Amino acid sequence: MVAQIIDGKKIAQEIKAELANEVAHLKAKGIIPGLATVLVGEDPASQIYIKNKLKSCEEVGIYSYHQHLPADTSEEEVLKLIKELNSDPKIHGILVQLPLPKHFDEDKILLAIDPDKDVDGFHPVNVGRFSAKKSIREIEDEKIFLPCTPYGIIQLIKRSGLTIAGSEAVVVGRSNIVGKPVAMLLLAENATVTVCHSGTKDLGEVTRKADILVAAIGKAKMITADMVKEGAIVIDVGVNRLPDGEICGDVDFSAVREKAKAITPVPGGVGPMTIAMLMVNTVKAAKLQLTS
Ligand code: NAP
Repeated sequence: MVAQIIDGKKIAQEIKAELANEVAHLKAKGIIPGLATVLVGEDPASQIYIKNKLKSCEEVGIYSYHQHLPADTSEEEVLKLIKELNSDPKIHGILVQLPLPKHFDEDKILLAIDPDKDVDGFHPVNVGRFSAKKSIREIEDEKIFLPCTPYGIIQLIKRSGLTIAGSEAVVVGRSNIVGKPVAMLLLAENATVTVCHSGTKDLGEVTRKADILVAAIGKAKMITADMVKEGAIVIDVGVNRLPDGEICGDVDFSAVREKAKAITPVPGGVGPMTIAMLMVNTVKAAKLQLTS
């Protein structure tokens, strides 16, 4: 079996094209969704992420306001900026790019963002709201923002015509930004979910049971073909740089694609979806703030 390649770039473009249409309709009614991005310091990867987010805003028609602050900016200054953005009616979504420089308490910064403008979906109020719901349909209809990467993973699977309900799903990784929320979303989609981590005894034995395998580890090519069930759907979240500069995922792509039913490439799989879902959340925030 040679796997279907799940083209995240293409699916993200489709989502952004749908959103551009929706934004054009909103604009005709005088509503312009607005996203504020805050970057502190000069981390090169963060600068690329922000550049791509601003480019997507332009493609979709979202108003963007970007603040790039020096690395020695105080926590108080960033908190003051967030307070201003919280009360700015032109801004419907606020994104503070992580990681922040070491002298910041990231939790304190994320807590300062109004949960109704928390388009990254990291605020404990949103995490709590979404944990309490049973289905994604319920979540989508309510004032809840899902974290962009896990939300994008569900969209990738569904828009590729693959079935989640009834499947055995295994998530490797339990971080708050990927592993845990993706496990909860798969559960909300009626998969039977197992979550693995560095303390899992025999990882291969667990992953071989997966109809859907999500790798969110951060270790290059750690998931090898012998750890994957024939015909599995494999979602690779990892982004790793090899010594020769090549970017690769957590899955040994060339070997696993011979065995899987469907697989995401790195780059071009989960990554583009994360930004597309940020755009989805920003448009949702604009619509919800108008009706509240
Ligand atoms: P993280 O916070 O470092 O979490 C990694 C997880 O992997 C932890 O739960 C850890 O277990 C687990 N783990 C580590 N070694 C393991 C092993 N040998 N066996 C089983 N589990 C193991 O990383 P993250 O933030 O979730 O990110 C994961 C990867 O996704 C990274 O490569 C990151 O760059 C990438 N990422 C991509 C996107 C995107 O948009 N494409 C977005 C976010 C993250 P413990 O909990 O026991 O330590």
